[in-house]
Amino acid sequence: MRAARLHGPRDLRVETVPDPVPGPDEVLLRPLYTGLCGSDLHVWHGGAGAADGAPMVLGHEFSAEVVSVGPAAGDVRPGTLVTVEPMWTCGGCAPCRRGDYHLCRAMQWHGLSARTGALADRTVVRASMVHVLPEGVDARQGALVEPIAVAHHAVARANLTPGGSALVIGAGPIGVACALDLLARGVRRIVVSEPSPVRRVAAARAFAAVGAPDVLVLDPGADDVPDAVRALTAGEGTDAVLDAAGVQAAFTLALAAVRPGGRVVTVAVYLEPVSFHPLTTFLGEVDLVASCGYRDDFPAVLDLVRDGRFPLTDLVRTVPLEAVGDAFAELEAGTALKVLVQL
Ligand SMILES: [Zn+2]
Ligand SMILES: [Zn+2]
Repeated sequence: MRAARLHGPRDLRVETVPDPVPGPDEVLLRPLYTGLCGSDLHVWHGGAGAADGAPMVLGHEFSAEVVSVGPAAGDVRPGTLVTVEPMWTCGGCAPCRRGDYHLCRAMQWHGLSARTGALADRTVVRASMVHVLPEGVDARQGALVEPIAVAHHAVARANLTPGGSALVIGAGPIGVACALDLLARGVRRIVVSEPSPVRRVAAARAFAAVGAPDVLVLDPGADDVPDAVRALTAGEGTDAVLDAAGVQAAFTLALAAVRPGGRVVTVAVYLEPVSFHPLTTFLGEVDLVASCGYRDDFPAVLDLVRDGRFPLTDLVRTVPLEAVGDAFAELEAGTALKVLVQL
């Protein structure tokens, strides 16, 4: 089979490798669409990789068709379309035992830190990692469920109630999905801050598609975002800020825009440390909260996607596996919003 394997920093090769073989509680999948994201880019740059240094197959956001099923893999049937929660968890550590499996101390991410991934013609996962796509969710949408789950989990961590207000920093796929998730929860007063004009236009299209053209999409380079936030919230600041950008300017903006008693949720992967004066959070008793991945979020996200709450497939570009190297270069340049590799 073909597989895109990372041999070292920026050295991704589409190669012919043996098909994987599923164990008793595992399923063999034929990936259909595999999304690329900032985490892939980070690994591609050489930021992480398989622990043993062997070439690793990338790809953790994907839809697939079930090919075959191990004898102890339950009732998933061959031919079923699925999406995958790409976490190999140990089941035995303290976080796993209390249900926080996304915080597993021995976590291996399928396609990010495990050796195997979904940029391949076949891949193997545990049957328990698979979620069947409901009627009305196609394979392209299925590949977007994983990043939407990241956003869904982050918005849950923001503790908002219908009628609340939020600032979303960054209108990449996670930021846009955060805003769409807020809308699905009845939060209508939303400001989105994004420096890239391409991303601002794409975000505005997605909000219009769910009947929310009034979401304010601003350019932090030209607009006074904290001012706009105060205007929207009677001078208070927003109940929550979702930071999907992960840079110092975003962190500073978050603290300038959140209301006293509000909450800042970081869902971005920061590459550099930030500095801030703790008095900024102390005086307003602001909660700083992190959101990493998801836990039990896939079923709710699949329902929301089926109900049309995440019209993201228009924002996606699809490329064949042979063009995956170019796709990474585009991601690096920031010219593509979201790329799906069609297997
Ligand atoms: Zn991802
Ligand atoms: Zn564990």
